[in-house]
Amino acid sequence: MSKRDYYEVLGLSRDATEREIKKAYKRLAMKLHPDRNQGDKDKEAEFKEVKEAYEILNDDQKRAAYDQYGHAAFEQGGHGGGGGFGGGGFGQDFGDIFGDIFGGGRGGRQQRQQRGSDLRYNLELTLEEAIKGKTLEIKVPTYVACDPCDGSGAKKGSSAKTCSTCHGHGQVQMRQGLFAVQQTCPTCNGKGKVISDPCTSCRGQGRVQKNKTLSVKIPPGVDTGDRIRLSGEGEAGEHGAPAGDLYVQANVKQHKIFERDENDLYCEMPISFTTAALGGEIQVPTLEGKVKLKIPKETQTGKMFRLRGKGVKSVRSHTTGDLMCKVVLETPVNLSGDQADLLRQLETKVGTNKKHSPKESGFFDSVKSFIDDLKS
Ligand SMILES: [Zn+2]
Ligand SMILES: [Zn+2]
Repeated sequence: MSKRDYYEVLGLSRDATEREIKKAYKRLAMKLHPDRNQGDKDKEAEFKEVKEAYEILNDDQKRAAYDQYGHAAFEQGGHGGGGGFGGGGFGQDFGDIFGDIFGGGRGGRQQRQQRGSDLRYNLELTLEEAIKGKTLEIKVPTYVACDPCDGSGAKKGSSAKTCSTCHGHGQVQMRQGLFAVQQTCPTCNGKGKVISDPCTSCRGQGRVQKNKTLSVKIPPGVDTGDRIRLSGEGEAGEHGAPAGDLYVQANVKQHKIFERDENDLYCEMPISFTTAALGGEIQVPTLEGKVKLKIPKETQTGKMFRLRGKGVKSVRSHTTGDLMCKVVLETPVNLSGDQADLLRQLETKVGTNKKHSPKESGFFDSVKSFIDDLKS
């Protein structure tokens, strides 16, 4: 930031009129404009200095502050009001000028009324909750509009005044030689309003941090990765700007029995040796209680049975998936001597007869021909 006297920069006396200031600025800006002095760093720095001096002296309030306090008026925490004339900020504004000229500028208009941030909330659900849907309360740490000032940021009884520099547009237009340039209003930083008496609760921000409790309706059928958007429930914007959205992201916990794949559910059911061999009926758990499943005789372990319509009702298409039930043969354990004898008797009678165990004998046939092939 320039430390040269602003009047000196513009070549003026302290009692220069508004007209003289404008005239001096126009003349110098034209002479020093970077477009006319390609790559000349000294001229560029001088141009910045001139622009800075002009912006202060052309504003009655700022000029008065400068006359009284000098450069200190525009340093952080100074008497410059809402201007925020930091050195870095100036560089930014300078950049904007060229951005605007070449059409790629960050306009002040976007800066104004910037919407609050969106938020994401990760919600853990059990499979049952995800499938049946649920209304639940969540606590979200966020920003909410400040109560005492109603989000305006101005102390109760006062209000934000329309910025006198830009008349509420958030941007100011200036002629610089051949160019008419627009830039973010330095007085209000593009907000279009100036708060002279900030609210003490939010320190002029118009919003405060708070844990908000919200009721969320989870529709039946949601799955991991699904998002529920709560419009306007994100962070409140500054100075009464609209709030962002809140996205509740579902994350379904693992279930003891069921595994989900899209709208189908999968489960495993143990069946006894006898049921598998002779056929029978087993009870299969579903989301609506138990149902009977007929096991045909000679069922092999690992066989998958499809129970139509016993899966999950889709949250989008209203179609319902199936329940896929895989039966797994359970080998009997803790057999008594008598029981073991009965099994041995059965083994002797059945033996390795191809008729009774086609898979096993088929397998040994394959092993035999494999070894024969190796030998030859
Ligand atoms: Zn303004
Ligand atoms: Zn407030």
